[in-house]
Amino acid sequence: MTVLVLGGTAEARDLAARLHERAIPVVSSLAGRVSRPRLPVGEVRIGGFGGVEGLTAWLREHRVQAVVDATHPFAERIGANAFHAARAAGVPLLRLARPGWQPADGDRWHWTADLEEAAALLPGLGERVFLTSGRQGLAAFADLDPLWFLIRCVDPPNQPLPRRYELVLDRGPYRLDGERALMTEHDIDVLVTKDSGGAMTAAKLAAARELGLPVVVVRRPPRPSTTETPAVEAAVEWILNQ
Ligand code: NAP
Repeated sequence: MTVLVLGGTAEARDLAARLHERAIPVVSSLAGRVSRPRLPVGEVRIGGFGGVEGLTAWLREHRVQAVVDATHPFAERIGANAFHAARAAGVPLLRLARPGWQPADGDRWHWTADLEEAAALLPGLGERVFLTSGRQGLAAFADLDPLWFLIRCVDPPNQPLPRRYELVLDRGPYRLDGERALMTEHDIDVLVTKDSGGAMTAAKLAAARELGLPVVVVRRPPRPSTTETPAVEAAVEWILNQ
C-alpha cells in the first residue's frame, strides 16, 4: 500500500518516520513554501498538485490507499482539496491535527476571526507588537503606522510591511527564557499569534503570561469534517486498519 501524508508540520514528519520504521510505503508531500524545509524521512514530493483535480489524479495514478492530511491548521486550501480529492478518488482520509492552545490563569487573550480583525484590534492594546503569525498575511498590518513591530518568520516576507519594524528570521522550537528575553529586550507590549497549537512555539504564550501582556489569538479556519486524531500513533493504527 502507499500512504500519502500531506505535510509541512512536525506531526507529519513524525508520522512519516513511524511508517518508514514499519516499512509501510509513504510519500510525504510539501507545498514548497519555505526555502530550506525540514525534510521527513522516506520519499518526498514537493509542490502543489494543481487543485482538487490534480490531487485526485495523483491519488489514482500512484494507487494511494490512504491519505493523511497532517498540514498546518491554517493551511485551509489544501485541507479542503484533500477532502474533495479523497472522496472523488474513493480513498480514505484522516486528519491529523494538534489541538489548539487553551488560555491558562493570568492570560489576557483576545480571540479574532482572522488577521484583519487582529490588526484592527491592535491600536487599542499596545504600541510595540511581537507579530508571530508567519509571513503570509502580513499585509493586514501594513497600514498600522503608529505601531512598531517585531516580525518573526522563517523566510523573508514578500508582502507589504508596516512602516516601522524589525525582522527576525527564525524557526522553532523556542524556549521560555529566549522568548522572555526577546520580548523584554524589544519592550514588547502585545503579542499576535495564530492558534497553531503544539509545543514547539508555545513558549511565547507563557512569556506573555509572565510579563502580563495581552495576546491576540487568531482562531483556526474551518475545515471539512472528517475522521480526525491529534495523536501520531493513532494515525499509524488507522493506516494499519485501511
Ligand atoms: P494552503 O493555503 O492550504 O494551500 C495553498 C496551495 O498550496 C494548495 O492549494 C496546494 O496547491 C499547495 N499545498 C499546500 N500544502 C501542500 C502540501 N503539503 N503538499 C502539496 N501542496 C500543498 O497552504 P499554506 O497555508 O500556504 O501552507 C503551505 C504549507 O505550509 C502546508 O503544507 C502547511 O502544512 C505548511 N505550513 C503552513 C503554515 C500556515 O500558517 N499556513 C504554517 C506552517 C506550515 P495545489 O492546489 O496546486 O495542490
